Amino acid sequence: MFNKKILSDMEFKHKSVIVRCDFNVPIDEKGNVTDEKRIIAAMPTVKYLMEKEAKVILLSHLGRPKGKYDKTFSLAPVAKSMEKILGAKVSFIESERVVDNSVKQKVLSAEYGDVLLLENTRFREEEKHNGALFAEELASLGEIFVNDAFGTAHREHSSNAGIASLLPSCVGLLVEKELEIMGKAMSDAERPFTAILGGSKVSDKIGVIKNLALKVDYILIGGGMMFTFLKALGKEIGKSIVEEEQIETAKSIIDYCKEIGVVIILPKDVVVADSFNNEANFHTVKVENIPSNMMGLDIGDEAVGEFADVILKSKTVLWNGPMGVFEMDNFAKGTFGVAKALAESAATTIIGGGDSASAIHKFGLENKMSHISTGGGASLKLFEGGKLPGIECISEKGEL
Ligand code: AMP
Repeated sequence: MFNKKILSDMEFKHKSVIVRCDFNVPIDEKGNVTDEKRIIAAMPTVKYLMEKEAKVILLSHLGRPKGKYDKTFSLAPVAKSMEKILGAKVSFIESERVVDNSVKQKVLSAEYGDVLLLENTRFREEEKHNGALFAEELASLGEIFVNDAFGTAHREHSSNAGIASLLPSCVGLLVEKELEIMGKAMSDAERPFTAILGGSKVSDKIGVIKNLALKVDYILIGGGMMFTFLKALGKEIGKSIVEEEQIETAKSIIDYCKEIGVVIILPKDVVVADSFNNEANFHTVKVENIPSNMMGLDIGDEAVGEFADVILKSKTVLWNGPMGVFEMDNFAKGTFGVAKALAESAATTIIGGGDSASAIHKFGLENKMSHISTGGGASLKLFEGGKLPGIECISEKGEL
């Protein structure tokens, strides 16, 4: 169990509360938010604070505006969309510098129970290197800080770590759920515990594999990274994606898992294609028979079956990274098969954000999972056993 303060540990009545949210949502050319999931997900904390009669001052980043004002990345459309979802007024406080005297005045004159949204925190160049001045300016707007943005928790920015070191703070309901479910999996998971890892690169996930090996019973490997492991086992992989410089590491991971009794399962068959596009010619082969002129773009049916068997006998399953190039329909079957097995399993199923979360949404299976993390990078950091700077600075339970 994590030891950080949560909403119910704080007194919010007639306090000005700054909440860091993750409103990094897609917006079309007409200025409409095209996917409101992140805004909807932030509403329980906002409503909780409104009911407690707090003045709610919301912060978020949006996209990559390069540290200066750029209208394309304004949060104005988010305020409009949030107003509709919340059914209450959301005052959008415009400023190219996010905080200035006029912003301070508007925040001061707002009533308790009001909701205000400031401009994109990444309009300030200092944000990304946790500039002290920007953190102080933000902190000057309120008395309590709530971090409800798990997606940026692995970053040390002014609008999370900086401000949390200046004000009494706690995590919001979204972050609380993330830390509780993933924290339990990392410290005290029900077994058998299975990790499914995919995605394009081994190099991005070495820390994750090494740390998870100490905790899980099974590791199922798919995606582009399986080919580095297959090559480490002496298989010919044709034109499949491979990280030559990671082959030795893959070998040592296989040996290490054998030594500590963790079962690593690699696909027995793969879908190979003659080029990297959905119109390519493709068929399924055993991993011993990958043609030299073809590339593996998905796991095969036999692999899906074997992975599903392990998933169905597990009590906890953690998934990060697609099993194939799921963005192309012809190579999405393996990822779908794994997602379907997760949906059917009675285990605690945790989806570690990023592409695996997109895949689950693409297949419409989001309601069948125990938890879909809102932060790909942050959840990877947790799986690695690393610390999250955006959470580290939050007040501990018992602290004044
Ligand atoms: P990552 O960002 O490392 O989690 O990788 C996700 C990306 O890996 C997705 O865009 C997939 O299309 C890609 N991917 C999965 N399997 C393969 C594969 N066999 N070959 C090339 N790319 C793959």
